[in-house]
Amino acid sequence: MSESAADIARNEKIKQRLQFYEDLGLAPFYRDRVSPSSQSLQLHSPASLSVSGSQVMKQPPLPKSAAMPPATLSRSIAPLSSSGPSLFDAANKLSTETLLQIRDDLGECTRCKLHNARHTIVFGDGNPKAQLIFVGEGPGADEDAQGLPFVGRAGKLLTQMIEAMGLERRDVYICNVVKCRPPGNRQPEPDEVAACSPFLFRQLDSINPKVIVCLGATAFQTLLQTNRSISHYRGQWLDYRGYKMLPTYHPAYLLRNPAAKADVWKDLQKVMAELGLEIKKKAK
Ligand code: SF4
Repeated sequence: MSESAADIARNEKIKQRLQFYEDLGLAPFYRDRVSPSSQSLQLHSPASLSVSGSQVMKQPPLPKSAAMPPATLSRSIAPLSSSGPSLFDAANKLSTETLLQIRDDLGECTRCKLHNARHTIVFGDGNPKAQLIFVGEGPGADEDAQGLPFVGRAGKLLTQMIEAMGLERRDVYICNVVKCRPPGNRQPEPDEVAACSPFLFRQLDSINPKVIVCLGATAFQTLLQTNRSISHYRGQWLDYRGYKMLPTYHPAYLLRNPAAKADVWKDLQKVMAELGLEIKKKAK
């Protein structure tokens, strides 16, 4: 009996997933696979969360006024600048803003020079009540064309990483430090980061996640207002204004350096533990 198109597509997806696990250096394992909604339900203690599909109901948000300011991070990190108004001043630590309101405020933004060459503002995508947020650097060509973050090759790898964690993209929120594509995929410049990052801070406060994963140096340095290298802090829990934050490599870096996938997988396992997600190794 010949395979249907659906079977072929499913087999290809399984093949890609297994290849991804192999790249991570994982022995074969299985997950207790249940439907996404009931699985998500098991991710969190009943006392703290109840989940239906991609909807997450949280306890009343902790007052972020009690959160640590950048100067009292759990690790001592040199701030980018000790003078002038903090970028954090732009963020409302007791946010009741919705993502829609923040997007409306952003408008057809011309606050920095990146607006000149962009086709589409890439605001962010995913669950507005996500417990887990991935923050990247900025849109690339595919993202600029589609208006969605992480949809190119690096995005496909990020999707695989999310699925390896037992989640789906719709369970998490994905956004970038800058919302417009830097020409030639260069790094965003400091003035561009300064203009755009207040919107990121507001997105984070609106969603109020349990964990923030910084993908790459720009996200790490922007959130922690530091110019230190991510390499010293990769895989370590840090504090971003009371949120648990973990920096890891950007998927684009992993495409160039596949050997680093194993490090990222270790980092993601820490995140999984924090979120109550489990991977069960197959019995031999
Ligand atoms: S990168 Fe951000 S601040 Fe700059 S134009 Fe785009 S949306 Fe506005």
